[in-house]
Amino acid sequence: MTWTIGAASVHRVTELDTWRFSPVDLFAAWTDADTALAADRYAVAIDRSSGELVLSIHTYVIDIGGRRILVDTGNGDHKQRPALLPHHMLTAGYPERLRAAGIEPESIDVVTATHLHPDHCGGYTVLLDGVWTAAFPNAEYLLQDADLEWLRSLDREAADGTVAGDIARTYRDSVLPILDTARTVVGTTVVAEHEGTVVRLEPAPGHSAGHVVVRIDAPEGGGAVLVGDLIHHPLQLDRPTLTNNGDADPESAIRSRHDVLGEAASNGRLVLTAHFPVGGPERVSEANGQLTWQRGRTADLN
Ligand SMILES: [Zn+2]
Repeated sequence: MTWTIGAASVHRVTELDTWRFSPVDLFAAWTDADTALAADRYAVAIDRSSGELVLSIHTYVIDIGGRRILVDTGNGDHKQRPALLPHHMLTAGYPERLRAAGIEPESIDVVTATHLHPDHCGGYTVLLDGVWTAAFPNAEYLLQDADLEWLRSLDREAADGTVAGDIARTYRDSVLPILDTARTVVGTTVVAEHEGTVVRLEPAPGHSAGHVVVRIDAPEGGGAVLVGDLIHHPLQLDRPTLTNNGDADPESAIRSRHDVLGEAASNGRLVLTAHFPVGGPERVSEANGQLTWQRGRTADLN
């Protein structure tokens, strides 16, 4: 799937089409009423027979002015995450999926992630002859300073066999090997600009301290926002206080979600998510202070 936003082309490359979770494994406060509402409104994002939530793992490649930017990279293959079983030892073949979409890993100029969780930065490296090696050998990796510091603290302190221990593994097998070609960034960062179209990282903290969204602004308006784990399931717009169990700071996560999606509604921005299944909602409306997903597929798909 490709969208044109001003001078930019945005390609979605999916690592996992279907990633299933028991609702309470993602949202501790999920209720049976939420299951009924989700089944009614978001059929693609819930399995009606099992009650499981259906997610995907998407990444995005932005082509602009001769530069190629990759936002999020999936889990990558062969990563040991014994305490985070949905992330453990996947063999989804993400680099092959990129190549099948006509995107050679060597052609990527900039790699970044909305945040440094395993399903977003795990694909930073691949296993070559038993050594974790940069998957994008010609790219500069942009890392959010706050997330990098957090990973470093877990690497010092976290016990093996815990979720924190698996995040520390992520640091060692996916981030440490690319650090010498990485640049740390803080706050709003312009990544590329061409013919008035601008790609920038914007802080949206809460899920992690350094979580960013990627805004693409075009001179003609509209634009897009790549939201990462600002939102995991479309029902979180109907239930704004439904926080993900992985949110580092739930209050900030709620505020960031409201602010970013409210801005997207005001400016008619396309919302590209990391985890909604294909066919999930992509545009937000606001009426009487309430944000809602627009119904039906968007008109600008090509
Ligand atoms: Zn995620």
